[in-house]
Amino acid sequence: MPAKHDINKVGVESSDFPILCETCLGPNPYVRMSKQEFGSECKICNRPYTVFRWNPGNGARFKKTEICTTCSKIKGVCQTCLLDLEFGLPVQVRDAALGRKNQAPTSDINKQFYIQNLEKQMADSPDGMSFDSEVANKSGREMLKNLARTDPYYKRNRPHICSFFVKGECKRGGECPFRHEIPEENGMQKQNLVDRYYGRNDPVAKKILREQAESKGMKAPEDKTVTTLLFLGLPTCTEAEIRSSLAGACPWVKPTDVRSLTIVEASHCAFVNFTQRSMAERSAEALSAQSGIEVSGKRAKVVWGRSRPQKGKAAASAGASSSVAATAEASGSS
Ligand SMILES: [Zn+2]
Ligand SMILES: [Zn+2]
Ligand SMILES: [Zn+2]
Repeated sequence: MPAKHDINKVGVESSDFPILCETCLGPNPYVRMSKQEFGSECKICNRPYTVFRWNPGNGARFKKTEICTTCSKIKGVCQTCLLDLEFGLPVQVRDAALGRKNQAPTSDINKQFYIQNLEKQMADSPDGMSFDSEVANKSGREMLKNLARTDPYYKRNRPHICSFFVKGECKRGGECPFRHEIPEENGMQKQNLVDRYYGRNDPVAKKILREQAESKGMKAPEDKTVTTLLFLGLPTCTEAEIRSSLAGACPWVKPTDVRSLTIVEASHCAFVNFTQRSMAERSAEALSAQSGIEVSGKRAKVVWGRSRPQKGKAAASAGASSSVAATAEASGSS
């Protein structure tokens, strides 16, 4: 019987069983699989791996493993859909919520080195896994549990949409093995397998993160010059403590990404002004997923700063002092 979901059980027999999520496996736990040793190159590490193929159920398309078991264990993802095994969510969503940096090798040589390094780590770890979501922060895990699908989502196993039908050219009618439907514009089409694996530039993940932030009142301001986040309800703390908390929660933020950090002790808040809007957005989404930020043992609320009052173009290059003045009203509403 092919192994389900529980990656720890599968770890030892990785060459005999694929590591799959329940959805990809399908409803029948006794599904028959074909196995082809060194059948294909792993789409992540480019090494030959054992390819499994199976039919996950009535009306489903045939599925196969796309990446090797090593790459699957490194990220804790399904070998076929590349979604996180525990929550069924994209890596980019999981890593934002857990405050994990998405490390990715940049060249082929780095790639080999990266994989070998992680393989060594896995050999040393008791369960043979490299990925461990347990070490992550609790509120991020809560958010993931809320977002996660609790049941397998078999609709995902349906045949692909017929590309001829979309162009109005399919002549196969009812015989056509593909779906005759107009695709929804949901970002799926623009997804790239390698990016999804490393948790970067994933439009589907971006949408999930944006929606959860908006549902918590963290909608990014229309005014793109706003690059400031406010931390509210802070204990007495130093700039260094806030910076270190931020580095822990959003490990992708480099010290130089924060243009200024101003603490207003009287109102227990701090203004964190980012050099780039994209970095402010990414941090806002992650901190929203993590339900705020813990500074010196206390969880602070995170909200967006407001637009500066119209002062012409000079506003865009305004430094810390004017951003405090402009956003002081925002802190008043806390
Ligand atoms: Zn691989
Ligand atoms: Zn899957
Ligand atoms: Zn067709």
